[in-house]
Amino acid sequence: MSDFKLVAVNCKNCDSGLVIEVNDNITYCTSCGSGFEIIESELKPIEINFAAAAIRSEGELIYKPFWLVKSHVEILERKASGAFIRNLFGGTDESSGDIVFYIPAFYCHLDSMKNLATQFTAKHPVASPQKYNAKLVGFAYGKEDAKKLSEFIFISLEAEKSDTMKTFKYNMQFNSLEILGIPFYKLSDGRLKDGILGIVI
Ligand SMILES: [Zn+2]
Repeated sequence: MSDFKLVAVNCKNCDSGLVIEVNDNITYCTSCGSGFEIIESELKPIEINFAAAAIRSEGELIYKPFWLVKSHVEILERKASGAFIRNLFGGTDESSGDIVFYIPAFYCHLDSMKNLATQFTAKHPVASPQKYNAKLVGFAYGKEDAKKLSEFIFISLEAEKSDTMKTFKYNMQFNSLEILGIPFYKLSDGRLKDGILGIVI
């Protein structure tokens, strides 16, 4: 990925110059912490925050973008119930609740994407994200992709949990989509290890 820079795009809030990599449609202002989605050359505000690294590792620390898909899910009909749903809903109500999906917004292999999304969504490890003065680039998936991937993760987790499941109907409502920068270490073998759960991809 090259560091190609588009010319003369300034932050709408503080007027600092923004660095936008080719193909990126989301940008983060490191000066004031504002996030923008670029829609038809217009900068639309979007919430962007970062997670602190919880583990130490060899390698340079970089940040990769995830979608935080804040949703409300209602189970309309199901033949078998798995523990995972209860966990995601916080153990209070089996049939509906809020789920925050962590969906990689950067390009990675489908198996890695599913692994990261599944483990981060199940553990919900970033309770209070913060503003960092850090670079966040390499957005490969947009909002509509993130919504579809959230449903894919939800269905695949539910299908894995209950082998007797025959019918499963649900309603997923998307309340908000934000961006979260997750720390990764660049390992010497070229792979990446996240700084929160320690997953190597
Ligand atoms: Zn700014």
